[in-house]
Amino acid sequence: MGGKFVIRFEEMYAKLTGARHCLAVANGTSALITALDGLDVNAGDEVIVPPYTFVATVNAVLLRGALPVFADIDLETFQMDPKRVEPALTDRTTAIIPVHMAGTPADLDAITAIGRRRRVPVIEDACQAHLAEWRGKKVGTLGTAGCFSFQGSKNLNSGEGGAVLTNDDAVLERCYSFHNNGRSRVTGNAAFGYQHNGANLRLTEFQGALLISQMSRLEEQSKRRDENAAYLTSMLSQVPGIKPARWPEGATRSAWHLYMFRYDKAAFAGAPRSSFLKAMSAEGIPCSSGYQPLNKEPFIQNILGSRGFKRLFSEASLKGWREKNECPMNDRLCTEAVWFTQTMLLGTRADMEQIVEAVKKVQAQAHTLKA
Ligand SMILES: *Cc1c(COP(=O)(O)O)cnc(C)c1O
Repeated sequence: MGGKFVIRFEEMYAKLTGARHCLAVANGTSALITALDGLDVNAGDEVIVPPYTFVATVNAVLLRGALPVFADIDLETFQMDPKRVEPALTDRTTAIIPVHMAGTPADLDAITAIGRRRRVPVIEDACQAHLAEWRGKKVGTLGTAGCFSFQGSKNLNSGEGGAVLTNDDAVLERCYSFHNNGRSRVTGNAAFGYQHNGANLRLTEFQGALLISQMSRLEEQSKRRDENAAYLTSMLSQVPGIKPARWPEGATRSAWHLYMFRYDKAAFAGAPRSSFLKAMSAEGIPCSSGYQPLNKEPFIQNILGSRGFKRLFSEASLKGWREKNECPMNDRLCTEAVWFTQTMLLGTRADMEQIVEAVKKVQAQAHTLKA
């Protein structure tokens, strides 16, 4: 139902990514909810997600009345570990959502192969991964659907906004209908005869116009992040105790929405990560500790204990959920990770050198940090 700006943006983003279809929606969370509906994921289903992601990935699943099942991450890449996906599948699994964390592709070869073999569709959460590539192809186009966010912190943004990519005509129809109160894309705004239920998750014309304009700088900024991140990695890999996230074999471009590494306090005189973060900030380098273990958040237990979920799932599956969803690698990652934001990678080469100088200075003085 978009006006000319939204439709123009959809065409531009589909062309840029090589997707057959792009549907603009209100935000990234809406994109995930829309894609889940588009693939007929419903109440009583199970959906596989990684624990190292923004809470919206899990919220979207729960808002469909489906049960999130966590597949642990790989400690070297910070991405969903495909080896943990297969054991998490059950006869109720109706989608797998790999997240391209920090804008670096998750292992799409392995995850889409499992999806094909077990006939479970893959929805890519590419909300951080604009222009990222897997074997030269844009992410968001390798699963049955790909979801993007254009929220203010993202590499392409209109304050709020989102999109679903798909190469499947039927999925597009259903996603379109869902995001537009059940109207049909083909027959239009019929006053009756609705075939499908939906919500209003439309992008506005104003946001569409902003995105068209923001697209003009996306590639140039992405190139700068590529160069700066590569330079930063070449220097930081030399620093003992700093382990930048590795790319899964097959990733050919990252969006560098975040720059992530693991901090080993043993190489910093035992100084805890919180002291490292504080010292870096004092050197003028802002950084954060990133996500907390999502599978242990109280909201999940609260929903699993709700009347509705008790009607949808067996007592045994709800009771055993916490133990079955342990993610020890993620627990460890959440204590070791350090993040820089994408905007820091838009600086100069000299800025990257200053970041590394700060890390080295903090390391040299680490014995004074302890406490
Ligand atoms: C930002 C983000 C979302 C949600 O996008 P919104 O536009 O904020 O709703 C979902 N998943 C991931 C991984 C994100 O980073």
